[in-house]
Amino acid sequence: MKSLINKLQSEKVLSKVEFVNLLSYFGKEDQQYLLSKSRAVADEFFGKKIFVRGLIEFTNFCKNDCYYCGIRSSNLNAERYRLEKDDILSCCEQGYELGFRTFVLQGGEDLWYSDEKIIDIVSSIKNAYPDCAITLSIGEKTCEQYLKFYNAGADRYLLRHETANVEHYAKIHPPGLNAENRQCCLYNLKKIGYQVGAGFMVGSPYQTVENLAEDLLFIKELMPQMIGIGPFIPHKDTPFSSFPSGKLELTLLLIGILRLMLPNALIPSTTALGTIHPNGREMGILAGANVVMPNLSPVRVRKKYSLYDNKICTGEEAAECRICLQNRMKKIGYEIVVDRGDFRPMRLE
Ligand code: SAM
Repeated sequence: MKSLINKLQSEKVLSKVEFVNLLSYFGKEDQQYLLSKSRAVADEFFGKKIFVRGLIEFTNFCKNDCYYCGIRSSNLNAERYRLEKDDILSCCEQGYELGFRTFVLQGGEDLWYSDEKIIDIVSSIKNAYPDCAITLSIGEKTCEQYLKFYNAGADRYLLRHETANVEHYAKIHPPGLNAENRQCCLYNLKKIGYQVGAGFMVGSPYQTVENLAEDLLFIKELMPQMIGIGPFIPHKDTPFSSFPSGKLELTLLLIGILRLMLPNALIPSTTALGTIHPNGREMGILAGANVVMPNLSPVRVRKKYSLYDNKICTGEEAAECRICLQNRMKKIGYEIVVDRGDFRPMRLE
């Protein structure tokens, strides 16, 4: 196993069979060996600095009906909300004061926000905070729409591919959504010039280790600037309510593998990781992640953006969230910095 890990570090990729072996048979010692390497790689590239993104969950309306997601359209128990432009701008104002230089606008696929509305929101944020990066995470759109948002000032786009395997994708999504279109969106976004984030849930229903190996190979091929992974966590009002959560150890191992594959990628230690273990986000950083995403949404809507059960950080004000994470990072020897935290190509090291 150690020679496989050494090979991964030097070649930055393994074959599908090798990934399957690594993921299937890793023991505690192998995990420690891999994570000490992945942490060292992250430290070498980013030092002890952790980038911070202010997450604004601006709508939980969604036209899609993904089987795993708590804000799926057919969940009639979800209390729906939308933030108006002024609400979003005041989240940014508060965030800027707290040292955020990236704002992430995430939401369900909510057609109430026409292209014109999105363009207005993006350009208003950009005008008010020209030194900040804007990340959109609003799902699958046409290439023309992505281009319009980019021209309005959006810098980055998060769109997890969810699973690279076409059959697995079909098992966790309703008809009408498919892996090919999702992947095509990611390539379009990249072509336009966005910094792009792909990613997947660990332990999603019906996922196999082969699927995970395919996810790793898809990421290697796409070469996104950002990679968001976190455990699947069931939501009580979804068809997957009785499936178990993804495992902490496997998620950490995958963060480590991704760090060895893409040494300069921006990898968040996700809220989902913090939900399945009280120190999950710290463990994610120690496995090689280098980004945290505290919530900037108004407290009154936080609980409503319920993708999965028991989501953490739904009660605190933005400032409390920021300080809490800062302290958590400090305890493990890392420091949150005031920085846009853009992707840096390897050659500029
Ligand atoms: N609508 C946008 C999109 O499609 O990318 C962004 C919002 S979507 C809710 C954000 C991410 O939440 C998804 O990409 C998915 O991976 C994650 N997610 C949804 N339900 C989840 C669950 N039950 N457990 C863990 N992550 C979940």
